[in-house]
Amino acid sequence: TELSKIRNFSIVAHIDHGKSTLADRLIQSTGTVQDRDMKEQLLDAMDIERERGITIKANTVRIDYVADDGEHYVLNLIDTPGHVDFAYEVSRSMRAVEGSLLVVDSTQGVEAQTLANVYQAIDADHEIVPVLNKIDLPAADCARVAEQIEDVIGIDATDAIQVSAKTGIGIKETLEAIVTRLPAPTGTRDAPLKAMLVDSWYDAYLGVIVLVRIMDGVLKKGDQIKMMQTGARYGVERIGVFRPPMQVVDELGPGEIGFITASIKQVRDTKVGDTITHEKKGSETALPGFKPSVPVVFCGLFPVDSSEFEDLRNAIEKLALNDASFSYEMETSAALGFGFRCGFLGLLHLEVIRDRIEREYNIELITTAPSVVYHVYAKDGEMQELHNPADMPDLSTIDHLEEPRIKATILVPDDFLGDVLKLCQDRRGIQLDLSYAGSRAMVVYDLPLNEVVFDFYDRLKSVTKGYASFDYQMIGYRTDNLVKMSVLVNDEPVDALSTMVHRDRAEQRGRAMCEKLKDLIPRHMFKIPIQAAIGGKVIARETLSALRKDVTAKCYGGDASRKRKLLDKQKAGKKKMRQFGRVEIPQEAFISALKMD
Ligand code: GDP
Ligand code: MG
Repeated sequence: TELSKIRNFSIVAHIDHGKSTLADRLIQSTGTVQDRDMKEQLLDAMDIERERGITIKANTVRIDYVADDGEHYVLNLIDTPGHVDFAYEVSRSMRAVEGSLLVVDSTQGVEAQTLANVYQAIDADHEIVPVLNKIDLPAADCARVAEQIEDVIGIDATDAIQVSAKTGIGIKETLEAIVTRLPAPTGTRDAPLKAMLVDSWYDAYLGVIVLVRIMDGVLKKGDQIKMMQTGARYGVERIGVFRPPMQVVDELGPGEIGFITASIKQVRDTKVGDTITHEKKGSETALPGFKPSVPVVFCGLFPVDSSEFEDLRNAIEKLALNDASFSYEMETSAALGFGFRCGFLGLLHLEVIRDRIEREYNIELITTAPSVVYHVYAKDGEMQELHNPADMPDLSTIDHLEEPRIKATILVPDDFLGDVLKLCQDRRGIQLDLSYAGSRAMVVYDLPLNEVVFDFYDRLKSVTKGYASFDYQMIGYRTDNLVKMSVLVNDEPVDALSTMVHRDRAEQRGRAMCEKLKDLIPRHMFKIPIQAAIGGKVIARETLSALRKDVTAKCYGGDASRKRKLLDKQKAGKKKMRQFGRVEIPQEAFISALKMD
């Protein structure tokens, strides 16, 4: 295709502002998909993504469009991951296109996630077309939202398109704007091949499928290619585009977006952001900005039923085939038995993988508290990464510890600002900026990732009644006074409950944790001490008193069915318990005990 007839774009939106619905409408109105094949949220392929309304893999669709000028255009839409965990993947997708539609719900306005992604689009030098969606709703306020886009983001919104992705209003105008307002890609056909690896995934029939954007040169079936980062070489077997089903084409030229297959065995062999070139007469220089993806949040995954360990291994290996950013290694816990220590790009990533194991593989899991990666400096100056608080070396050998910090951006209505500042302060935050956009405040904080990883977002939502939006990026490692806190139940240390805490907050955290556990652990026939300790020193303690009566004693005599129900309930509850010495701890305790209020 001629460069001047190509438009590559992405859609930037906060969750639920209508990105998927708009994509569906664009695909449908151009006849890319026949009405009878149309299903909702066409681009969100995986069930779990569909349910949660998030995109994890970059999806793409090629749309043919005859514009008002009578010309035939090829529009390539890349649907980018919509969550902070995948910020790097988003940045690569953004580099693969020249423009963005900025979709803002006209009943809601700009949110923090919109901001993060729109800044990525601005960084990638995109032309940005604002789209005010959901104008069919009575609460739509286009003038206010347009003004807000100008105030907060600083882009011109006078020509914002008013759309209802639901009813179809403004879809034609959106297509015309893509053609007339977004620039065509540039690139040279005769130059050495330079293609960006935008994303990759595993297909049971075709092996690894690689999504590419051609910058320069031409890629054809049978070409011998080289990945510049990994040095790996392959022969291109298939080459094609998504409409959205795969359609084989002869070649991909400059400006085009499509896929290749090349007998690549594992997704791990492909690195997002890598440059693909020809093995012979290839490009000398790689595309800028490549970064290897590193897991930032770790947790242990253990089967509730220990006989399912091999099933869990199988599930994890299968999932890892398709997800290079997810890491795992076997772990044994005194408390939980055999399991895996797994690394994720963020909390959402963790939740998605955990849900998939539970649902697709039907394995019930115990998830230990998520932990960030600490840098432990020994007295001899050597640095070690600590992925699991349980592995913390002896204090006497340690010089100091460093923890990852983030820059968090929060947008919140004025009324809740005080609560948000307090929350950030409580989590050891350092305020970097505070500004206003209309009646909303934008606060920027430097925060320790470990204070955020667990329940920060839940807390933020609850103190702001859901009105705040939040986004973050990693900024690096800094030292602080951090210690490992252990928990002992009935005098036995429960390794899965070990956490890293700031020394000044240890007592408070320890107390809160013991109180929580006291509520979460059912009473036994004997008294159970619950303690929090640093090193050998107990810093908090609670005692769970002994159970006096049989639960069934309440069901005086006759009512057999009620009695059976109670026993069944007990049995179901038991299944989710783990035995620690003589004490049974319910599965949910491992997560709940660590929530800080
Ligand atoms: P995404 O998270 O940005 O992909 O948002 P979705 O496309 O999944 O839309 C979120 C919700 O908003 C869904 O329930 C849609 O049906 C609804 N929605 C999307 N566009 C419109 C619109 O123009 N009008 C109305 N009334 N609802 C819409
Ligand atoms: Mg969506």
